[in-house]
Amino acid sequence: MSLTKMIRKSPMFSAMDRMEDELYARNDVVHPVEDSPERFEIVREKIKRGGDGPPSRLAFIMIPTLMGIIESLKSLENNPEKPRTQAEKGLLDEVRSLAFNLGVSSIGYTKVSPAWVFRNKAIKYKNAIVFAMEMDKPSIDTAPSLACMKTVMETYRDQGRIANKIASLLRNRGFGAHAGHPLMGLALYPPMAQSAGLGWIGLNGIIITPEHGPRVRLAAVFTSIENLPFADENEHGWIEGYCNSCRVCIKECPPNALYGEPVLHDSGRLTYVENELCFPYFDDYYGCSVCVKVCPFNHVAYEKLRDLRTHQ
Ligand code: SF4
Ligand code: SF4
Repeated sequence: MSLTKMIRKSPMFSAMDRMEDELYARNDVVHPVEDSPERFEIVREKIKRGGDGPPSRLAFIMIPTLMGIIESLKSLENNPEKPRTQAEKGLLDEVRSLAFNLGVSSIGYTKVSPAWVFRNKAIKYKNAIVFAMEMDKPSIDTAPSLACMKTVMETYRDQGRIANKIASLLRNRGFGAHAGHPLMGLALYPPMAQSAGLGWIGLNGIIITPEHGPRVRLAAVFTSIENLPFADENEHGWIEGYCNSCRVCIKECPPNALYGEPVLHDSGRLTYVENELCFPYFDDYYGCSVCVKVCPFNHVAYEKLRDLRTHQ
């Protein structure tokens, strides 16, 4: 049996479905709106397409990753009945230092719009601590390749562990927390990261960060803390103009899956990628990632590109 089928049939996967449904059925959660996106169900789509999926030698990364998703849902049971809502001085420094010591590259705070929550899914709290984590450049630069796929999967695994650790720290201090896993998340992370000031969404649909360009993965911890220092501005908006004159990812995407002119939805949300075109290539070529590799922000420092643009 292929690794994908094995995972889909495993009790872990059905437990995940059940816990997501239970969360959605609650009243005290953030539900999606009519215009919310569908989550792209990568494993189900893979099974529909057939074939073997990731090589079984990556099971040692995939299994702990799935266990991290289960922990993020199951640990919701441990939230305090009456969670605290006001963080004391020093708590967020502690969270930051835990996150950065574990390898996070940037962190920010935002309120989550229900328009970012996937249809038929829910998140427990509307206040989000959002964080980005770098992926190894030499591996990503080989995309599409097994080495690149392995790096992406390792980042999912490690970032999921960090989200669970931050959630656990917050619960130990009396706050409610919901670890938003980077894989099979319950809401769209790129608009959350942009709203938290971590970067700007490029025409490849990926957040472009000043630290590592698009070579990052995103996750979040949703929390009862109401007095987070929510971002009220974003200094990275100039990237939109840069993208409009660059368009390298659109030219280089092998199956031409990037719209170029993102689709605008009623809620203001934008869609950049046509999944039906991206997924078959993604599936056949180790998770692709060409649109991360070719982006100038993956190769040239953010400040240099900004200064070049200013002087044009
Ligand atoms: S992952 Fe590959 S196929 Fe999908 S949008 Fe990016 S470059 Fe295109
Ligand atoms: S490759 Fe160019 S157009 Fe695409 S996201 Fe990067 S900067 Fe923007």
